[in-house]
Amino acid sequence: MSLYHYQPIAIRGLLFESIYSTTLSSGNTGDPHNALQRSLIWKETFATAMVLYSPGRTTSYPDEPVKEGIRLHFLGGGDEVGNVGCVLEDKTGTRLLIDYGLAPTRPPKYPSECPPIDHAIITHSHIDHIGMAPWLVGQHGTLLHGTELTAAVSEMMWRDTYKVSKIEGYPLAWDMRDLDVALDAWETHNFGEWFDVGEWRLRFHRAGHIPGAAMVEIETPELRLLWGGDMDTRISPNVGAAKPLDCDILCIESTYGGREHPNRQEEEARFVARVKEVVSRGGVALIPAFASGRCQDILRILHEAAPHLEVHFDGMGTRITQHWMNNQQYIRDPIGLEKMWRWARKVRSKADRKKALEADVIVTTSGMLDGGPAIWYLNRLRHSLANAVLLTGYQAEGSGGRSLLENRKLPIFGNLTQIDLEVDQFQLSNHAGHSELETFVRDCGPKHVVFFHGDAEARIAIAAEFSQHPTPQLPVNGTPLVLQK
Ligand SMILES: [Zn+2]
Repeated sequence: MSLYHYQPIAIRGLLFESIYSTTLSSGNTGDPHNALQRSLIWKETFATAMVLYSPGRTTSYPDEPVKEGIRLHFLGGGDEVGNVGCVLEDKTGTRLLIDYGLAPTRPPKYPSECPPIDHAIITHSHIDHIGMAPWLVGQHGTLLHGTELTAAVSEMMWRDTYKVSKIEGYPLAWDMRDLDVALDAWETHNFGEWFDVGEWRLRFHRAGHIPGAAMVEIETPELRLLWGGDMDTRISPNVGAAKPLDCDILCIESTYGGREHPNRQEEEARFVARVKEVVSRGGVALIPAFASGRCQDILRILHEAAPHLEVHFDGMGTRITQHWMNNQQYIRDPIGLEKMWRWARKVRSKADRKKALEADVIVTTSGMLDGGPAIWYLNRLRHSLANAVLLTGYQAEGSGGRSLLENRKLPIFGNLTQIDLEVDQFQLSNHAGHSELETFVRDCGPKHVVFFHGDAEARIAIAAEFSQHPTPQLPVNGTPLVLQK
């Protein structure tokens, strides 16, 4: 048994492109003693850090009505990455929540309790934006607004989160009844289609990041606000770019404030070259990748650049891809996605998994080697030095991938195991980097720019690019921010 299981994962950057399920799932297949230990430790942790709500009594939301402009009240994700939730309200009494997630740390982090709310916008289906939405619906009967693809993928994410919470023994604040009602609480909208919430008019725009991810434009009687959500202004293999929009107030993520991405084409070329090198020496390239976005990007890149390779695709990403196939209006070059889907060999059984060990490439979850089929494969592939592990995203502190990079060791089914294979890492993020954020803000031309969803260093770095036009705002969770046109 490794202490590793009990260490909270530090929150920064790409952790939030991961899927909670795949972060935790297969580490749970170990012995029941481990599960019991984990459960006890969760309980101890939660007894000291209050995370479950006492509905109506733990909300920090102010009672006073808004006099002018718009009030933003972050329940989470204001001065941190992840567990996003922000209530917007103006003097008309129109009130709207944007996102309600949980951070997939160990233990998970939750936003503070949401006040009664009729409408919530769900920008996209990553768990740090949707994880707590069933609680909203169960508690307040909230209507969830999102794109059709976000709604479809959310069900899978919630079911998996529920399953993992039971296995790991941490409290979740919502149960299967809440989940069931949440499935019927969606009102879906296409990009560009106006809809009303109270006295406001809203419409979604493509955010980049992952297919179905939306920015939301909000017209109040006084002003126009654009909420960027997780976004990218660069084209990625499966989704087009976010485009700027004139607004008075821009709320934008700051995950990559102060950090630049490498050139995307060059990084993809470096990745493909490394895969070919491994295959040419007779090895298998094991590519752990996040289930919602990164897996599919990797497969599109390989299909385009090296279609002669035999590539096997395993894990929850396969089921997410099926949703993408059913919602092709959100996909960049959907024919390319279909071709990739036919080309990749889907692992559907134990026999398929054994066959995959003879492949050229295996693309699978979890992206940070915290469980999932990736660990099963690594345990078998680790004995031949021709094989390699190619990491395709940020490896959070405390994750298996980080441990592999730093110590050449990681937990496999509870045993810290030496891995002598070649390990490389590639930066294929679908969040805007520093320059992209700066350009996007200038192109939107707002009076105020609100930098949220970033750690202190990142938010300060991006805010430093602006002084008065626009005025940078750095919100803090639990402290209302009132802005006027
Ligand atoms: Zn995201």
